[in-house]
Amino acid sequence: MTRLCRVVFVNVLFSCLSSASPPNFVLLFADDLGYGDLGCYGHPTSLTPNLDRLAAGGLRFTDFYCTSPVCSPSRASLLTGRYQTRTGIYPGVLYPGSIGGLPLNETTIAEVLKPAGYATAAMGKWHLGYGANGTFLPTNQGFDHYLGIPYSHDMGPCKNLTCFPPDIKCFGLCDVGTVTVPLMHDDHIVQQPANFLELEKAYSDFATNFILTSAQKQQPFFLYYPSHHTHYPQYAGQRAAGKNSRGPFGDSLAELDDTIGDIMGALEKAGVINNTLVFFTADNGPELMRMSRGGNAGLLKCGKGTTYEGGMREPAIAFWPGTIKPGVTHQMGSILDILPTFASLAGGKLPSVILDGVDLSKLLIHQGQSPRETMMFYPTDPSEMYGLFAVRYKEYKAHFYTRGATHSGTTPDADCPVFAVLKAHDPPLLFDLEMDPSENYQLSLSGKPELQNVLEKIKQIKAEFEATMVFAKSEMSKGTDRTLAPCCNPQCSPKPTCCTC
Ligand code: MG
Repeated sequence: MTRLCRVVFVNVLFSCLSSASPPNFVLLFADDLGYGDLGCYGHPTSLTPNLDRLAAGGLRFTDFYCTSPVCSPSRASLLTGRYQTRTGIYPGVLYPGSIGGLPLNETTIAEVLKPAGYATAAMGKWHLGYGANGTFLPTNQGFDHYLGIPYSHDMGPCKNLTCFPPDIKCFGLCDVGTVTVPLMHDDHIVQQPANFLELEKAYSDFATNFILTSAQKQQPFFLYYPSHHTHYPQYAGQRAAGKNSRGPFGDSLAELDDTIGDIMGALEKAGVINNTLVFFTADNGPELMRMSRGGNAGLLKCGKGTTYEGGMREPAIAFWPGTIKPGVTHQMGSILDILPTFASLAGGKLPSVILDGVDLSKLLIHQGQSPRETMMFYPTDPSEMYGLFAVRYKEYKAHFYTRGATHSGTTPDADCPVFAVLKAHDPPLLFDLEMDPSENYQLSLSGKPELQNVLEKIKQIKAEFEATMVFAKSEMSKGTDRTLAPCCNPQCSPKPTCCTC
């Protein structure tokens, strides 16, 4: 082939690729799932054949981070590409009667993709606010349709939350003083309390219908599935319960895996699997206080509620047959990067705000370098007074503050439980995460000018980042109003017990 022919061929090929229909996106987001919980991340008794298949045929990340060690802030970061301090989704999490929620002027992934012609749907655990008359529901944040429970499933009495069979009751306490947990379709309550044993089937049917309908219309689509699994209390319907040796947590994870299998089956049936990027990750580390009914951080330190690796490093898998080469990457990525990556692949327009995410498409498709070299670690209650608790730069992580958490109780490591009170570190604790991912061995700076330089660089990165950080007003600080909690029979009395339909 002459040079001219080669140039023409490449140009034609590029033009064919660029005029191909934009990819579909399926974003799967597990809850309180640890780094060591999946079969493909080394758990010996988890049954996750569908996730393992995605990992074997896709790109598996070893260094992928969420932005908060608890639910709502990570969800805000995932959908906006921004740290939770910029959107106001802090401290802690939102509740059924919370007055605030993800501000409507924030731009979500769905709102980036819709103007590019995408059909959008969400199902599962929203947890970015309900508000007066459902102000903050997904249907007001760029999603055409929604089926799910708008917050955590322990935020109501433990009704219908059992494993089947045997009839194992909740392990611990749910929020008994509030309304029973509702199932919503778009902005309507269709069931209260939700029937958890039939819930995953409802999600599979909803996803299958959305995928097949969009494919029939030849419309690109975005399906977001933030799962209730594997958050406490564990539950599973008949298809998954009692089928594996890991007990209730294993059942819950197996049921999530089954739903993922159903979604993959729908993509195959619709003939779109080769034009769909499926991305799986999770919102925060495992709830170790639930002991064997919580998740497992594998070789990482501590779990949910802490800024150690176990609280915020998560399994992550990108699957796109024929486009993403199967393998494992040690490059860094974050849930912050999903919005810019999807926007880039879809030809969508980025919002005109400060984005903390970077475009990972070259890493996914061409095995290039990740543009991400840093990761910032905010605690569950970020404040301007304390700022960042830790910063990762390349392989190094510096802890400026450390603190244990109730959610990470029960392990033998004395740094993890709530009794490990807030400690400031000057100089910061420095670890090499490539040599020591478990954060066991603090690096000594004495006589090591190269490590002192690393620490100075991290301090500079922290100072520059914090100089640009404008804390949005906390949505959680707006408080709660019990009358806002969703009730299928709004005029009934006495509340909350009468909210049953
Ligand atoms: Mg969570």
